[in-house]
Amino acid sequence: MKQLTPHELEQFLSHLAVRYELRLPILLADGTRTIGSPDDGSVVLHGGAVPGKPTAAFFPQQDTIFTASQGTFSQTLPPVKPLCILGFTPADLHCLRFIDRFFGDGMRDDLYFRLRQGAVVAGITGYCGVRGALLPPAGGNCDFELFWSGENWLVRAYGATGAELVAELPNQATPKEEELFTQALATAPDSGAILLQTASQLLRTNRVPDSFWEEIGERCIACTGCNVTCPTCTCFGVLDWRSATKVERSRTWDSCQLDGFMREASGHNPLGSAALRSRRRIHHKLAADPLKWGEISCFRCGRCDATCPTGIGIMAVAQELVARFG
Ligand code: SF4
Ligand code: SF4
Repeated sequence: MKQLTPHELEQFLSHLAVRYELRLPILLADGTRTIGSPDDGSVVLHGGAVPGKPTAAFFPQQDTIFTASQGTFSQTLPPVKPLCILGFTPADLHCLRFIDRFFGDGMRDDLYFRLRQGAVVAGITGYCGVRGALLPPAGGNCDFELFWSGENWLVRAYGATGAELVAELPNQATPKEEELFTQALATAPDSGAILLQTASQLLRTNRVPDSFWEEIGERCIACTGCNVTCPTCTCFGVLDWRSATKVERSRTWDSCQLDGFMREASGHNPLGSAALRSRRRIHHKLAADPLKWGEISCFRCGRCDATCPTGIGIMAVAQELVARFG
C-alpha cells in the first residue's frame, strides 16, 4: 500500500488528468458537492457520499443515442480520453458493480459501455465521511481506493490498471498506517443489511398486505427524488426530437413513481395507483432483483432516505415493514 500527503495527492491527480478525463467531488455554489470536472469547482474529497447519483458518470440523465441529418446518420462517440472517476463510497462501488452486471447482461448497453469501458474508478474511504466519520475500506470493486488516515491518503490498488497507476507512487504506507487500514477493514457490517434481508424475505413470502402499500402510496408525492438519486435505478425513456433538418434520438432517466411510467398505448396502466408504484419501487430492489440477479439491489447508500421529503425511502419503509409484519 502506498501513501500520499494531501499535496502529493494533488500532484497524482494532475498526473492522472494527462491520461484520463478526471471527475471527482467538487463544491457547488449552494454548498453541496457533486462529481464533476476539477475545472468546474474546488475539489472536496471529504464529506462522504455526494447527494446525486454517482453512477450518472456512466449513465447520464440525458444521453444522445443518434442523430440523423440530411442522409447522414451519426452516433455519439466515446470521449477522447477515458474517464477517471473518484468519489465513490464503498456502497456506491457495490451499486456500480451491480449496474455493470445489469447493463452488460444479454443485450449489452452500448451507451453505458461507451463511457464505462476503459474507465478508471477510485473509491474514497477512511476517516473522511460526514464530520470525519469512518467510511470502511471498499476492499475491491474499484481500480484503487484512497483511504484517509487522518493525516495522509493511503492508496490501495485492485486489478492490473490500478496496480499500474499506483506503482508509480514513491512512498510506502508505514506499518502503523497499514494496521489502521486493516482494522477499519474488519469493521462490523452495519445492521441495515440484516434489516433489508428480513424485509426481502417478508416480501418474497407474500407477508405484506396491499393495505400497507396503500398507506405508503398516500405518502408519496411523486417528486422522483428517490429514483433520480439512486445509483442502481436504471430506468429510462426514449425520446425522438425532430426539427426541419435533423432527428435526434435520446434517452432520459425515468421514474417508477410517476403515473405514466408503465401506461400503455391502450390507456391500460399496470401501475395505475400510487400504492402499486410504491410497492414496485421497494419490491423491485428487495424481491425481484434477488430472484433475477441473486442479490438485493439496494446497497444502503442512504440517498433515497436522505432525499425523500415524506420519509419513505427504502430503509424507512423496510423498518416499518419489519416492525409490523416481521
Ligand atoms: S439506499 Fe436508496 S438510493 Fe441507495 S441504493 Fe438503496 S434504494 Fe438506491
Ligand atoms: S422521494 Fe419519496 S415522495 Fe418522492 S417519489 Fe420517491 S418515495 Fe415518492
